[in-house]
Amino acid sequence: MANKDKQPKAKKVRKAKKDAYKLDGDKLERLKKHCPKCGPGVFMGEHKDRTSCGRCGYTEFKKK
Ligand SMILES: [Zn+2]
Repeated sequence: MANKDKQPKAKKVRKAKKDAYKLDGDKLERLKKHCPKCGPGVFMGEHKDRTSCGRCGYTEFKKK
């Protein structure tokens, strides 16, 4: 991403957190999985073929 360096890290984290939810009417839907080790509140990072926890390093590979 070209503008990656312009984004302060704190802002980037906040955006990622916001993207973890989808507001559907008055229902809040979770889009991202949370880490089974760290528990709810710690979301897994999305990658092309896997999801991984940035906190403990837990990685789950996606099935094709
Ligand atoms: Zn974790």
